[in-house]
Amino acid sequence: MNDPNIGRIVVDEHELQQRIRDLGKAIATDYDDHPPLLVGILKGAFMFMADLARAIDLPVEFDFMAVSSYGSATRTSGVVRIMKDLDLDLTDRHVLIVEDIVDSGLTLAYLSKNLRARGAASLEVCALLVKEGLQKVETELKYVGFRIPPDFVIGYGLDVDERYRNLPYIAEFTGAVEQKFT
Ligand code: 5GP
Repeated sequence: MNDPNIGRIVVDEHELQQRIRDLGKAIATDYDDHPPLLVGILKGAFMFMADLARAIDLPVEFDFMAVSSYGSATRTSGVVRIMKDLDLDLTDRHVLIVEDIVDSGLTLAYLSKNLRARGAASLEVCALLVKEGLQKVETELKYVGFRIPPDFVIGYGLDVDERYRNLPYIAEFTGAVEQKFT
């Protein structure tokens, strides 16, 4: 895509697909006798969820949740609103949250607490990207794709005002970030 706001490539398409295949294998091994319910966090995780699920050779099930975090342009506040809740009951399920990116960790901390209260047998997190050194709260991440520098990134599900989600790689965004996180 010829767009001056697409900056340096942080993770290219090949690296993404290779790492996701490895994550899928690790998850398939760990959950061999208790296939997980994958809970994708919309919208950012939709592309990762689709590729990750195809890399897990187990009868997984799917559900999705949409949340919106309020804050300034580039920082979430930890105030999270559920825009779309899960369809399925989590009681006794082995839940694996599939998240696009962890920045402050506040969104994930809220989600983990919320889902944990619903009676799941286990709850783990698989995050594609984690920004180095920015977490304000400790969240246990069982599976992490890549640890990246603390720049604002786009692509592979991540947007700026709904654009760039279809880039097959992760790139730095070099334009002005004035969106609210969605
Ligand atoms: P946190 O609560 O960890 O600070 O923020 C998590 C959410 O903020 C992510 O799920 C994502 O929607 C959004 N976010 C955080 N960093 C970025 C980024 O670099 N680019 C984009 N497009 N969204 C981000």
